Amino acid sequence: MKYALLDRGDRLSRQLCEQFHTLAKDKGFTADDNSPDVVISIGGDGTLLQAFHRFKHRVEEVSFIGIHTGHLGFYADWKKDEIADLLELMKTTEPRKIQYPLLRVEIQTHSSSAVYIALNEFSLKSEDGSTFVAGIHINDEPFETFRGDGIVISTPSGSTGYNKSLGGAVIHPSLEALQITEMASINNRVYRTLGSPVILPKHHHCDITPDPEDELAIGIDHLVLEMSGVRSIVCKVAEEKVSFARYRPYPFWNRVREAFIGSGKS
Ligand code: NAP
Repeated sequence: MKYALLDRGDRLSRQLCEQFHTLAKDKGFTADDNSPDVVISIGGDGTLLQAFHRFKHRVEEVSFIGIHTGHLGFYADWKKDEIADLLELMKTTEPRKIQYPLLRVEIQTHSSSAVYIALNEFSLKSEDGSTFVAGIHINDEPFETFRGDGIVISTPSGSTGYNKSLGGAVIHPSLEALQITEMASINNRVYRTLGSPVILPKHHHCDITPDPEDELAIGIDHLVLEMSGVRSIVCKVAEEKVSFARYRPYPFWNRVREAFIGSGKS
């Protein structure tokens, strides 16, 4: 098996990386940063986002595994003291491939068009923090004119990230959908938005038309791009999916409970 390893860069993650390489060599695995079968991240969910973006050009070929250096995460669901167990399972067991939907974002400016893929979400704000204004269309029909701090469009697995902080719903990643959440919309007699999160199925799309004069801060997961001259943004569920290699069950709702509710025992 060929694997690539990416760590958060802190001392513990780097130590665990060394440990992984040593144990993996004993098992006959080969480190390969160019064409790995499996990509392992050591750090947190944020590190897995980085690993995803490093290898998204091979998203149809690779499976991801996340090792968390702290608490268990949503993508990083192995603990730091379980590396030997994980490698033994990688050697002896065929994993289940769990696939999660991704978000496709196409951004058109006066002079260019670019496509981005997000694992968690896409966010849109004014670059200088001023009020952001944009027209929102759903399936080519005008829906609302948004005025406020910004907009987040998330995947189901990203629904527990930025989206949840904005009051969005938590969506099970087996549902192929995207969710639009507002950041502090201005609602008065003049400006009106729906005011609640909207969930679109795979065959729908959402278009955002900001003022092309505006300087925008565009977030794609952990990445931030500054852009001007944006004429339109088309968001839809991507055709491709991300795969995670699962060697043991860790149901999504258990992860949600562990992260946000706890065991309930005092
Ligand atoms: P960060 O600001 O250093 O950390 C953001 C936190 O979000 C970390 O605790 C991270 O977990 C956690 N996280 C990442 N993906 C998640 C998911 N799908 N469900 C639940 N929690 C998740 O940034 P980062 O580590 O580079 O991660 C970027 C992500 O941060 C963005 O994609 C966005 O979802 C989130 N974010 C949230 C807010 C907010 O809630 N107000 C604002 C900006 C960005 P780990 O500690 O395990 O890495």
